[in-house]
Amino acid sequence: MSALVGIGYDSHRLIAGRRLVLGGVEIPGELGLDGHSDADVLAHAIADALLGGAGLGDIGEHFPDTDERWRDADSMELLAHVLARVREVGLEPVNVDCTVVMERPKLSPHRSAIRTALAAVLGLDVQRINVKASTGEGIGFVGRGEGVAALAVASLRER
Ligand code: MG
Repeated sequence: MSALVGIGYDSHRLIAGRRLVLGGVEIPGELGLDGHSDADVLAHAIADALLGGAGLGDIGEHFPDTDERWRDADSMELLAHVLARVREVGLEPVNVDCTVVMERPKLSPHRSAIRTALAAVLGLDVQRINVKASTGEGIGFVGRGEGVAALAVASLRER
């Protein structure tokens, strides 16, 4: 079987009084991400990429935001659940590439910690987790600092 590929996209609103957690790493700043869980937009995009590659739908189906179990949930735990479901259908991730689109703060000081955290949850070598940073160049909801978006691609193979 040739490699399977899945894509994921997510965005969350930036508001005061919430934490900014990206790929399981808390990033200090004035604003954080709003959402039912910890709103880890990067973990959510990667979860959708993995589910997509495995033909398993999306995280909204697996973890509905009407379910109180997932209120303020650690999205890295959610990602671990997704990995378990991917494994149940006989697949495993090969690599994950992702882009965080965020105006501020700068992602680069946290990139290594994020890669390490994601690699640990997904059971992959750090080299197989690539994290890129982009900005909105002052345009749109990202550019105005109203939110953060993340995109991810994952490839999977049979175990
Ligand atoms: Mg989300």
